[in-house]
Amino acid sequence: MTIGILGGGQLGRMLALAGYPLGLRTELYDPSPDACAGQVAPLVSAPYNDWDALARLAEGKACATYEFENVPLDTAQFLEKRVPVRPTTRALEIFQDRLLEKQFLNSVGIPTPAFAPIDPAQPDAALEITGLPCVLKTRRFGYDGKGQGVAHTGEEYRTLIQRFQPHALIAEAFVPFDREVSALGVRSLTGEIAVYPLVENWHREGILRVSMVDAVTPSPPSPLSHAVGEGGTNSPLPCRGRGAGGEGYITRLLESLDYVGVLALEMFQIGDQLLANEVAPRVHNSGHWTIEGAETSQFENHLRAILGLPLGSVAPRGYCAMVNLVGELPPIDAVLRIPNAHLHLYGKSPRPGRKLGHITLRADTQEERDTLLEKLLHIYPVSRV
Ligand code: AMP
Repeated sequence: MTIGILGGGQLGRMLALAGYPLGLRTELYDPSPDACAGQVAPLVSAPYNDWDALARLAEGKACATYEFENVPLDTAQFLEKRVPVRPTTRALEIFQDRLLEKQFLNSVGIPTPAFAPIDPAQPDAALEITGLPCVLKTRRFGYDGKGQGVAHTGEEYRTLIQRFQPHALIAEAFVPFDREVSALGVRSLTGEIAVYPLVENWHREGILRVSMVDAVTPSPPSPLSHAVGEGGTNSPLPCRGRGAGGEGYITRLLESLDYVGVLALEMFQIGDQLLANEVAPRVHNSGHWTIEGAETSQFENHLRAILGLPLGSVAPRGYCAMVNLVGELPPIDAVLRIPNAHLHLYGKSPRPGRKLGHITLRADTQEERDTLLEKLLHIYPVSRV
């Protein structure tokens, strides 16, 4: 079986690699001939509006999927008429627009920071909802902190609006969060659902730098975890390291959209409250640890899900941390000398802000994991805040 994948970056590359042991082939599609997934699997390089090339991509494929949510909607819709596209283009349509995304989250009872679209004719109306400070974001095509800025004063707010012109914008209340977390879930074509343990994420300049896995046990549907998202916005969160949160939300998202594939929900935690920030309808950077750290990786489970195969266990194999290699690489010898450090390089040339690879640390105890992380951060410094 061959699967067509829109996008040929590192996520496409890791999806392609996960397909090999299962005897699955992939064909990737990316406008850039240098897209790094092309180093490991066949890559078609053509623009997203090359309908002939897209029609050929659909030919003979079991299904198609996408590895980033900024694939033009009409590209995915064109493909959908020829081959099943999973997750559906409806998910793409909602989650590539920050306004539709937040409206949808609220409509299924998942709380978000206060937000409002910015009407260029009456820009200050949004401020009445969000207050100051607030975060301005372009509704579309923002990622890794691109297309956003924080306004502390009315003047900064208006300057940012000018800067982002002519893009449609939303304003969000600035959240003084304790930490950022993400929940990663997967739903198969058969309706089977599995949710990985909650992950804590450290970002710098809007880019994910470190993910720490909260739990060492899978997250069974416990009354506590179900409470998150079902009992209102102030439901209790399980203690850090003891369980997972956000399953209630992620399960609700997967079910309400009849979703098929992996989905990530990024959230802010303030005290015992979770506020949803962003949904990624695809495999996600905060799930890279699952390659070595879980019984079944997010990439394999995504492929299983979109083909209607039974899902693999999401149980973690010990304590994990994942460090992204952004902009520049550490000395490789020193990294490989760290026990249980699993290095992944994406075959991309270094450029500031570019994700070049990642390292997953896996250990039998939390103390050991923390020691390994300290060693790695000594070689490749990333501060928590
Ligand atoms: P995003 O592109 O929405 O994922 O935002 C990138 C990063 O900016 C997030 O991971 C947060 O660190 C920060 N950020 C985004 N929105 C907010 C907000 N409303 N309040 C505080 N920080 C935010």
